Amino acid sequence: MPIVTQPLPLPRRFGPAELDRLTAMVEQRSLFYWQGPQTGALGVEFRKHYPFKHIFPCSSGSASLHIAVASLRLKPGDEIIVSPITDMGSVIGIIYQQGVPVFTDLDPRTYNMDPEHIRRAITPKTRAIMAVHLTGNPCDMTAINAIAREHGLAVIEDCAQSWGARHQGIPVGLMGDLGCYSFNDFKHVSCGDGGIVGTNRDDLGAGLSKWGDKCYDRVTGARDPADLAPNYRMSEPLAAIAAAQLTKLDHIVAQRGRNGARLTTALADVPGVLPPVTRPGDFHSYWFYMFRLDLPKLRLNRDEFAAALRAEGVTANPGYLPMPVYRYQVFRHHNFFGGTWPARLLGATTMDYTQVHCPVAEAILNESITLPINEAMDDGYIDQVAAAIRHVAKLAAR
Ligand SMILES: *Cc1c(COP(=O)(O)O)cnc(C)c1O
Repeated sequence: MPIVTQPLPLPRRFGPAELDRLTAMVEQRSLFYWQGPQTGALGVEFRKHYPFKHIFPCSSGSASLHIAVASLRLKPGDEIIVSPITDMGSVIGIIYQQGVPVFTDLDPRTYNMDPEHIRRAITPKTRAIMAVHLTGNPCDMTAINAIAREHGLAVIEDCAQSWGARHQGIPVGLMGDLGCYSFNDFKHVSCGDGGIVGTNRDDLGAGLSKWGDKCYDRVTGARDPADLAPNYRMSEPLAAIAAAQLTKLDHIVAQRGRNGARLTTALADVPGVLPPVTRPGDFHSYWFYMFRLDLPKLRLNRDEFAAALRAEGVTANPGYLPMPVYRYQVFRHHNFFGGTWPARLLGATTMDYTQVHCPVAEAILNESITLPINEAMDDGYIDQVAAAIRHVAKLAAR
């Protein structure tokens, strides 16, 4: 009999709230975002959590990050410091704007960017720091903002995994210059695919819609784009669902935060197991749960440990990404535009991703196990998962 006796609890994510909004939507004569009622409702719901002055709902988290990067008006070769453990969405926009993602190493226990490594990565070409709040754990925004101020850098917060997370009481996204969020289907809240970007800076705010809507001016209707910008709009059907989803955000985040914290507390004294660390005063909203193994203390390797957990009924997976982003083929081969990298060909950067090495990030990926966390789990389920991890660790102890 496995220790975890219940199947993985799964929440019902969509229901009457979404249906109500969709029903109202089909009565509309237009599904276009501009002055659309669902887009308006999405803005109202979003601002209850994130009271940005300027927002732009868009087609994905990646789009929100591309818009944020584009609004900084990079010159070819300008650098943005970013985490090597993240989604491609963090870096796609940087590359498309002819910028250079500079990957810096992580804190071994929070899995977030280490401010000391950020400081060392700054060059005269650095324009911004992209703070990726990985797994739902807030980055040390106090330290990151201090570095940014000192060096005149912008801060973009990638909050795709961290809906509802707070650093020292402040929701993530509101502390940097631009906050970026994803509604892709795997995130805390989903409309299938979508995103939203916000800023409190007036100089960047007007640009958000411009950089996400072909550089068209919807206010005046003028059609003479001054810059090249993609169409990253979100249409009314998706805004309807996203708006309904955000009415559930507080509940989803509270439950996930509670469940993750309960597991972390339960694992605190398990030999060979290193639960994630949340800085005091911060709130981790647990998009998923990642813990590390102290392998010298164990007779099992990481994959064997994960298999032993699965045998005990835990939905455990070895690792998160197979490798850091700089090891992906596209980066290893600088294969960005038809097999080439114009910024490098032009001499605007000497970056060579084959030479990048972030040992802590690599260790995190090689030594970690990931588990799902969701709002449908109760204390009993979390306690069974903790008991299974404790049991496997005890059997595997040297
Ligand atoms: C999911 C994710 C993105 C991209 O979001 P999409 O909506 O899938 O484009 C960006 N950054 C991080 C850290 C993510 O987890």
